[in-house]
Amino acid sequence: MKIAVDGGAGVGKSTIARLLAKKLDILYVNTGAMYRAIAWALHEGLSLDEIEMDLEGDQVWVNGQNVTKNLYNELMDDLSSQYSSRPEVRQKLITLQQTLAQNKSVVMEGRDIGTVVLPDADVKFYLTASVKERARRRALQRNEDMETIKQAIEERDGRDKQGFDRHAAPDAIELCTDGLDIDGVLKKALNSIKTLDS
Ligand code: C5P
Repeated sequence: MKIAVDGGAGVGKSTIARLLAKKLDILYVNTGAMYRAIAWALHEGLSLDEIEMDLEGDQVWVNGQNVTKNLYNELMDDLSSQYSSRPEVRQKLITLQQTLAQNKSVVMEGRDIGTVVLPDADVKFYLTASVKERARRRALQRNEDMETIKQAIEERDGRDKQGFDRHAAPDAIELCTDGLDIDGVLKKALNSIKTLDS
């Protein structure tokens, strides 16, 4: 079974995708971490061709070095969103993502999984939440000021929309996570999977 979980920054994708993969005992792939790792490597001066990437859950290795701890900060939020609009970056990662999912059951989260990477996914979720709620969640994760985060999210949404076509797949199930706790969203997602399965 292949499950796509798409949506913007801070809508709860990672939490839900990780829990779904654990519950179903299948592979979890975080494609945002891949764009962040590419951004980190390019910023370090590596060329795209030199970059070899390995993944295990949320951990990412670039040419053998575990770079995970360098990926979640304001600079990488910005750079990953900027580099992700380059067609050659997207092509490299889309190919890698499709290879990772080949002949395997997987929960893959990102922005274009249901539309581009795994258009034949068995179940597609598109998560949404208000900017206020997304900023509140990020503020808790990062210990940063709400207003600054809100502005950053709006800027990144705008840039992501320009950089590539980010929209829900026509056959995606939209889940608004405003006001729902994690258990609530997970329950809704699992129910949708069960309904489609039967
Ligand atoms: O999900 P996360 O915030 O970690 O993603 C970082 C950046 O990577 C996003 O802002 C987006 O520009 C890019 N991205 C993408 N396609 C994906 C996943 C992430 O372009 N499938």
